[in-house]
Amino acid sequence: MSINDKVVIVTGASSGIGASIAVESAKLGAKVVMVGRNEEKLSKVSSDCASVGKKVKPLVINADVSKDEDVRRIIDTTVQQFGQIDVLINNAGFNKLVTIHDEKAMDAFDAVLATNLRGVVHLTHLAIPYLKKTKGNIVNVSSVAAVKPMGQTFWAYCTSKAALDHFSKCMARELAPDVRVNVVNPGPVATDFGANSGMPADLKLEIKDMVVLERISQSEEVTDIVLFLMSDRARGVTGSCFLTDNGLLLK
Ligand code: NDP
Repeated sequence: MSINDKVVIVTGASSGIGASIAVESAKLGAKVVMVGRNEEKLSKVSSDCASVGKKVKPLVINADVSKDEDVRRIIDTTVQQFGQIDVLINNAGFNKLVTIHDEKAMDAFDAVLATNLRGVVHLTHLAIPYLKKTKGNIVNVSSVAAVKPMGQTFWAYCTSKAALDHFSKCMARELAPDVRVNVVNPGPVATDFGANSGMPADLKLEIKDMVVLERISQSEEVTDIVLFLMSDRARGVTGSCFLTDNGLLLK
């Protein structure tokens, strides 16, 4: 499947990795559906898509994937506008920095799971009939944190991403042979993820101490793998978790 003319939903398309996936998909001729909450950022990325895209302006849906009514609106509006869904990219995600000892631990857990896991499950549930019709596929953006526990304030995030990987494998099995489901697990990527997750601005990550390749990824590197997985070149790939972590797990 080339993605030219395919309807591709990208959640978390207002910044970072999701913005890059949206722009590169538009460049390849996809009809992009951009989901996020920040109007201003969505509008900027939408203009970027329109300037590189071949045909159709992206459909921008201001929605929160943790809210059931918003999730239903994402699927309904996409189908009303484009009549089909070919690819679902579940990329929206964040972390809330609290330890398990914090009195707000359970609130943080619920909020992180609601976006990073429940939103994905709900979108998948509603998209399945459409993806079956088009023999489409799903790519979930997880994290190396699904495999390796990180710092003290990453427990909810790590747990959500580990569950996301396993959910993806369950779905790959369940939806075969019609729909492929795969995962990308990045290590540190240069985005606003830290700031958006409430990490202090002066927190300097010692990349050399974290990864053997002594570098941090750019969003486009993750996008390249997502584009491969959503394309027909990956027609034999389902239930896979693709690690792109600069060798973090080797440390
Ligand atoms: P950003 O913070 O730049 O982007 C996160 C995106 O998710 C934003 O577009 C944000 O949009 C959206 N988002 C967050 N919560 C919601 C929600 N409830 N509903 C709808 N959209 C939401 O970070 P990244 O681009 O880095 O993160 C993208 C994905 O990559 C995440 O799943 C993250 O866990 C994963 N990842 C990132 C790594 C990194 O080092 N950067 C490493 C490994 C994985 P808005 O605010 O407009 O709603």
